[in-house]
Amino acid sequence: MSLAGPINDELAAWDRDCLLHPTTHTANHARGDVPGRIVTGGKGVHIEDRDGNRFLDAFAALYCVNVGYGRTEIADAMNDQAQKLAYFHAFAGHGNEPAITLARLIMDRAPEHMARVYFGLSGSDANETNVKLAWHYNILRGKPEKRKIISRWRAYHGSGIVSGSMTGLKAYHARFHLPLEGFLHAATPHYLRRDDATLSEAAFTDRLIADLEAMMLSEGPETIAAFIGEPVMGTGGILPPPEGYWGRVQELLDRYDILLISDEVVCGFGRTGSMFGATHYGLKPDFMTIAKGLTSAYAPLSGSVISQRVFDVLMQGSDDFGALAHGWTYSAHPVSCAAGIATLNLVDELGLLGNASSTGPYLLQRLRDAVGSHPNVAEVRGVGLMAAVEFMEDPGTFKWFEPPMSMSGKISAAMLRRGVIARPMPEGDIIGFAPPLCITPQEVDQVVEALQGAVQEVL
Ligand code: PLP
Repeated sequence: MSLAGPINDELAAWDRDCLLHPTTHTANHARGDVPGRIVTGGKGVHIEDRDGNRFLDAFAALYCVNVGYGRTEIADAMNDQAQKLAYFHAFAGHGNEPAITLARLIMDRAPEHMARVYFGLSGSDANETNVKLAWHYNILRGKPEKRKIISRWRAYHGSGIVSGSMTGLKAYHARFHLPLEGFLHAATPHYLRRDDATLSEAAFTDRLIADLEAMMLSEGPETIAAFIGEPVMGTGGILPPPEGYWGRVQELLDRYDILLISDEVVCGFGRTGSMFGATHYGLKPDFMTIAKGLTSAYAPLSGSVISQRVFDVLMQGSDDFGALAHGWTYSAHPVSCAAGIATLNLVDELGLLGNASSTGPYLLQRLRDAVGSHPNVAEVRGVGLMAAVEFMEDPGTFKWFEPPMSMSGKISAAMLRRGVIARPMPEGDIIGFAPPLCITPQEVDQVVEALQGAVQEVL
């Protein structure tokens, strides 16, 4: 297998000369120093690049290609729809067949108290929609001052101005003057990183809840519109919540009349083994943000799913306010919605929730057996088909490698040399796994062997 990096031909030159890539070192890329590759194909859990290298993608691209690569059922559905009607807008009550059918499929899968879906293009824009609707809901209830949004440090909710304000990763704030005023961050629910080693997990949850309540009271619950959270934090390091956390958060939100936005962009459609993270943890959200797994990334599509109680207020208020002044040109795009229908049907037909429930624990156990007792491994954690291994120079004294991500960068590069893609996550030295939900136990074995070999090589 050749791992020479970018190909020195005309296409690679155009890439360097014409494209500004997301989250990429601009100058290094322009100089050709970034080891990105031009990906040309994919099948199942594998992708292939222009050099003919094949990789097992243990992160489903950006935890989104849930049904796996190369599904002709989705491509065919998109092609059929594009030939029939590639686009017409959804403003002023206009509709198209796939958007209406997909809305039905989503509502059939969502918790019973959810009432409508508003389609967008990305997780970021769906989160912005949710914030605007939460504000609108409170304005209609005569509470215009109830506007603040609480998220958490290490959360990822997108890269826009509002969604970036809710994201709790410093790199997304620095130099952009974010977060905007009124966007607050509560503590990260990560037991490993508690600042008092003597705390039990239950006592750690008690502390998180007490701190969150103190924040709500000092800000004034009458000024707080919503709390947004990923049921399992993803980009912040794949963090399943500590014992009892979500039930206690939900109690606080109910007590202080604060809406819950469950950001399901990663957890939605089976990643945890349940249809949604909210159902997995028994939450009752007012908004669910869905994207990624909705189309398995075969086409851009997101949704803001809203509860009956929010919808009732929007409906009553519309006689005073008129039309909802919030619209994206591509909302309910027919080709994306056709991809969504084909994807959700495949999730059912392939039994992917069941596979996440059985192969997920297998992945976690294999990771624990392979590297759990290594002196530099601080934690192996996961739920469903998402897992992470966190490395430290000395887990006993919580001493991190310096600089952060230096070791996870080396480990993921060593895994790549073994033909497996895993993702170094920000905020420490964490290797994340979130493979397509169709991964088999044999493919899991290959992933774990690549990690084991990489750890032996690097540490
Ligand atoms: N919310 C979560 C939990 C995410 O992980 C992401 C992206 O990774 C987003 C929102 C933003 O989605 P997008 O990149 O489609 O805007």
